[in-house]
Amino acid sequence: MEWTTTIDAPGKVCLMQGNEAIVRGAVEAGINFAASYPGSPSSQVLDMLGRIANERGFYAQWAANEVCALEACIGTSLAHARSLCIVKQNGLLICADALHCGAQHGAIGGIVVVTSDDPSAHSSTNEFDSRFMVESADLPMLEPTNMQEAKDLVPYAFELSEKLRQIVVIRLTTRVCHGRGNVVLGKLPEKPNPLRQVNEWDRLVCVSYRHTPMLQTLENFREEFEHCPYNHYEGPEHPEKLVVAGGTGCLYAKEALQRLGLEEKIGLLRLATVWPMPEALLLNYLKEAKSVLVVEEVDPFLEKGLQALAGKHQLQIHFAGRGDGGLPRIGELNPDVVMDAVRKLAEIPAPAGAAADGPEPLLERELNFCAGCPHRATFYLLKRALKRCSKEPGVVIGDIGCYIMSGQEAGHYIYQACNCMGSGINLAEGLGQLSNFGMRQPVVTMCGDSTFFHTALPGLLNASYYHSNMLMMVLDNSATAMTGFQPHPGTGLTAMGEQSEPMSIRAICESMGCRVTEADPFDVEGTQKILEELLPQPGLKVLIMRQPCATLMSKKQRKKRRVWVDQDKCIGNGCGCDRFCSRVWGCPGNSWDYEKNKAVIDPVSCVGCGVCAELCPAGAIKVEDGED
Ligand code: SF4
Ligand code: SF4
Repeated sequence: MEWTTTIDAPGKVCLMQGNEAIVRGAVEAGINFAASYPGSPSSQVLDMLGRIANERGFYAQWAANEVCALEACIGTSLAHARSLCIVKQNGLLICADALHCGAQHGAIGGIVVVTSDDPSAHSSTNEFDSRFMVESADLPMLEPTNMQEAKDLVPYAFELSEKLRQIVVIRLTTRVCHGRGNVVLGKLPEKPNPLRQVNEWDRLVCVSYRHTPMLQTLENFREEFEHCPYNHYEGPEHPEKLVVAGGTGCLYAKEALQRLGLEEKIGLLRLATVWPMPEALLLNYLKEAKSVLVVEEVDPFLEKGLQALAGKHQLQIHFAGRGDGGLPRIGELNPDVVMDAVRKLAEIPAPAGAAADGPEPLLERELNFCAGCPHRATFYLLKRALKRCSKEPGVVIGDIGCYIMSGQEAGHYIYQACNCMGSGINLAEGLGQLSNFGMRQPVVTMCGDSTFFHTALPGLLNASYYHSNMLMMVLDNSATAMTGFQPHPGTGLTAMGEQSEPMSIRAICESMGCRVTEADPFDVEGTQKILEELLPQPGLKVLIMRQPCATLMSKKQRKKRRVWVDQDKCIGNGCGCDRFCSRVWGCPGNSWDYEKNKAVIDPVSCVGCGVCAELCPAGAIKVEDGED
């Protein structure tokens, strides 16, 4: 894929994914520095940048978290570096303080933040709309409507950032990140942007007296955006009906207008400059409009801005969009819902039987851990240990990673609370203090190895210093698995493929004064014993559950062990919990033979971990050969 990001062939047309187009734009802009923490839908951007960094002469880093990434970009700006920070919507929230302070001191070398939102929360816990964060920080924001703009807006954003000495944000959504489209390549610079020594009076200092200049900078961006070449209008000269669209909403709206033959009757204003809004440009089209449909992901951000603008100029306009019910209030847009909204705007009745025309709905399925995932064993054993060693039910607090599925059937509905990245330790720390005031339940939390480095460390320090009564489990599967196996400080690798001394989770915990135990979740008996010993003990305990991610192991192509069911021994429905292996344990490798009414192992899914064999009450599951 990367040849498209580094080939020097101006004018060549390439089919590119949105994330790839961002990388190409960064290379055309001659970036010096890029940093990110993995988060879908934009994890691939730094993956690709890391692979081409040496060739193109810049530095790329998977930072321990998004704050480290953004603040590193701000630091490099002092040396006139062009720096790109890539985050997802939750990551932008984590950066809130750095972003707001950054807006107040601005930039010297260009700083561009790419934030990717996830409408419908396909790979997130929420569908937060990052435009509100950017507005709150008084920063300018651009949003591409297609893959070409995803590339072109990156160099444009760097130019503006340096011209107006401010951080510029580019907002993407999942369909832009993962969709594909034609992109005309631009020229590549021979070398990255030249760096300069930091002068005595080069300053990036957040102080309150910078507030007024910051607001003036925002006004300067507004003036700049009035003439932005990436805002487009098409349609009648004096539109009475108008669609204003941002991001992928533009493509859906354009398609709807084309299919309904309304291109000459209804205007379409495609807005790449999301914030601050180019008021003069907008008023030019709003002043004649009677009805306006606003198409955007996810919240009614543009819609409210346009309503306020119309109100300020006493324009009588009916607005439809995500705020007034003209479009669904939540979830990702699609061509069909935008088509319906455009029909309503045009006052065209819906075709008869339209509602029944859609495809057959798919069966809904819950998310599940992969076959052989060590987390499945961890949560099963934890639930069993809590039942065995405490009269009171335990309180389990989750965190963010693959193991968030432990709140569902896959993890036996184990946790009571889950907030955001790195929060589990803090929720548990608070609860753990209540044991001194009458709360008798064991308190447990967990985080993955990547989350441990990301935001769990200050919480662990806090819990250790204040002697909270709780068990912290670090589910160390040697990977940032959920986003695609990006390296973190515990892996010994960097984004640019270099080696680095891996940080020891155990040593870090011990340096904070924690008592640390290690267990292997595939060692059913041993882990069960350790859990039952640790849970009743007072004080803070850390248990590191060590077993590599099943997907990571399958990539290593080791010879897997053969696991099979001796159906003569399988007692099926009578096995204690109604087909325990396939219905309760729930590994995708454990299946059911409906003809023989016995369990069976799916040899394609099974990775040979052998845990189901240890748990089968009849000893019917057999393991042979292979490597552990
Ligand atoms: S051995 Fe059992 S638990 Fe492990 S992957 Fe195979 S079917 Fe799943
Ligand atoms: S293989 Fe074991 S756990 Fe699975 S249904 Fe048969 S007896 Fe029950």
